[in-house]
Amino acid sequence: MDLAARTWTDLAECETRLALLPVGSTEQHGPHAPLGTDHLAAAAVAETAADAHDEEVVVAPTVPVGVSEEHRAFAGTLWVGEDTFRAYVGDVVESLAHHGFDHVVVVNGHGGNVAALREVCGRLTRDDVAYTLPFTWFDGVTSDLPMGHAGARETALLRHVVPDLVREERVEDAREEAADRWGEWVAGVNLAYDTDEFSPNGVVGDPDAGDAEAGEVLLDEAATALCELLAAMADR
Ligand SMILES: [Zn+2]
Repeated sequence: MDLAARTWTDLAECETRLALLPVGSTEQHGPHAPLGTDHLAAAAVAETAADAHDEEVVVAPTVPVGVSEEHRAFAGTLWVGEDTFRAYVGDVVESLAHHGFDHVVVVNGHGGNVAALREVCGRLTRDDVAYTLPFTWFDGVTSDLPMGHAGARETALLRHVVPDLVREERVEDAREEAADRWGEWVAGVNLAYDTDEFSPNGVVGDPDAGDAEAGEVLLDEAATALCELLAAMADR
C-alpha cells in the first residue's frame, strides 16, 4: 500500500504492523545514469516487495537525499550529514510507529547510508519505538554481476525499471573511463575520501555487463529477499 496515494481514512482502517521506508541518495551515477538512481532503485524494490508479500505492507514516501558527500565533485550531487540523516529517518519511523506500523524495514539504495542506518535502526529498536531493520537491496541479492558504482548491477536494474532514464549512447564512454575498483587501498585503508580521486567520470565497474533482463532478475531477487525479511520480522 502506497501511503502517499491513500487517504487518512484508508490508513486508519489498515491493520498491518509492517511498513517499508525507502531511502536513497541524489548523487552522480556517471554520465549515463540519473542522479536519482539510488532512491529510484530503493523505491522500486520496496514497491515490488510490498506487491508480492502475502500480508499487507505500507510503503512510506522515499527519503531522496542521503549521506553522499563523497560524490560532491560531480554536479548535481546533494547530501546531508549523518546526524541529520539519522535524525530524519528516526523521526519518520517514529511517526509510522505512532500509527501502529511498528515493524519497519528501511529499504536502502546507497552504500554511504549503511553505517548511519545500522545505528539509527538499532537505537529505534532498543528504545522500543519500533522494531526497525535496514535492508540494502544490493546486499540482499546473490547475483554474479559485480556491484561497482553506476556499474553492472545498478545499470541493469535501471534498464528494467526506468529504461528511458539510462543514456544508452553514453554507456560505451562511461565504461572506458570507469575505475575497476572502489577507492585507493593501502594497508586496508582507503586513501581517498571522494570518488573523483579514483574515478574521473564517477563510474566503478562495467555498466554494460547487465541488460534489462538481468535487471528484472535482480529486482525479483531483492524483492524476494525483502519479503523473507518481513516474514522473519513478523514471526519474531
Ligand atoms: Zn548508486
